[in-house]
This record gives sequence, C-alpha cells and structure tokens, in this order.
Amino acid sequence: MNRLLIIGPPGAGKGTQAVKIAENLSIPAISTGDIFRKNIKEETELGKEAKSYIDSGNLVPDSVTNKMVRSRLSEDDAANGFLLDGYPRNTAQVHELDSILSDLSQEIDRVLLLVADNDELVQRLLNRAAEQGRSDDNEEVIRHRLKVYEKETEPLLAIYRERGLVKEVNGLGEIDEVTQRILEALK
Ligand code: AMP
Repeated sequence: MNRLLIIGPPGAGKGTQAVKIAENLSIPAISTGDIFRKNIKEETELGKEAKSYIDSGNLVPDSVTNKMVRSRLSEDDAANGFLLDGYPRNTAQVHELDSILSDLSQEIDRVLLLVADNDELVQRLLNRAAEQGRSDDNEEVIRHRLKVYEKETEPLLAIYRERGLVKEVNGLGEIDEVTQRILEALK
C-alpha cells in the first residue's frame, strides 16, 4: 500500500497531510503545485510556461504537466512508492498516469479523498493567504479554483470509485487528528 494519491478541493489540507503521511510511510510526497511554484521562483522555462495559469487559478496545460510528472515518477526515490498530491486533476491526466505507471510496471494502490465544506475551504485559503502570500490565494482566484475543482477534478473520482480505490476522509479538525484518520483509512 505505498502508491497513493491524495485528492481534494483547494484548502482541504492535501499538502500538509501529504507531507505527514509520506513521512510516516517513508515515501516521497510529490506535489505538482510545489514543483510549479519552485520553478516559478527559479524562473525556469517550466516556471514561465506555468505562471499565468497558476496566478489565474486555471490548470496548467496537460502537455506541460504530464511531462513533468512522468519525469518525476521515473526518479529513483519513487521506485518503491510515492504519494502524489495535486495530480491527476482531470480525466485526461488519469489516463496519462495509467500510462506512466504501466510503463513502470506499477499501479495505484489507494486514492485518498480529503473532504471539507466550501465555506470552511474559503476561510482556510484566506487565512493561508494572510500567512503565506501565495499569488493564487486571493478571494476571486480562490472561488475560481474551487469551480475548476468541481468542473475538472471531481469527475475523475468516478473512475477511481469504479476501480474500488477511493477512501473518503473528513478533512475537518486538528492536523494530527486528520493524519490519524488517513493512516486508519490506509490499513
Ligand atoms: P496546488 O498547490 O495543488 O493547489 O496547485 C496550485 C496550482 O498549480 C493549480 O491551481 C494549478 O494552476 C497548478 N497545478 C497543480 N497541479 C496541477 C495539475 N495536475 N494539472 C494542472 N495544473 C496543476
């Protein structure tokens, strides 16, 4: 049980939980959002390609994102497991991930779905905006990102539900409490 996805709306706490769970399982947490942000900061070509999409709360084109994920999952540290945070984010990316993993003779063991209601999500993201100053954490972009999640990302869950891989976890509460719930869901 060490090839995992964590999916959920913006603000559900995916990034925080991904790091803690990955540490617990001794696997790398791979966040596509973090990889993009690092590239933007370092002003790489990839960063330049991604920036305008991220700042407006839209998905970076699949052609860019898929290539980046294929290359990251082929690195040595991911050979024995990984926790992917923020990918796949639409149904086309689900099929690309299938293809990447099939080339590596691997498959997904479980999909963690972290849930919280919309008002709580907006509040958390506004708090994070005040703390971290992320360029896509202002109210207008936050609302747009929630819409993008509903429209593009939510539909992909049907595919993983059909495969019997989805475990839903309540994202409300203290950070450690949520981590325990997730670890329980992985047993
Ligand atoms: P996150 O840190 O996961 O909230 O991602 C921040 C932003 O990075 C998103 O709003 C997208 O613009 C971009 N991004 C992250 N992951 C993906 C992905 N799998 N596909 C397309 N865009 C992504």
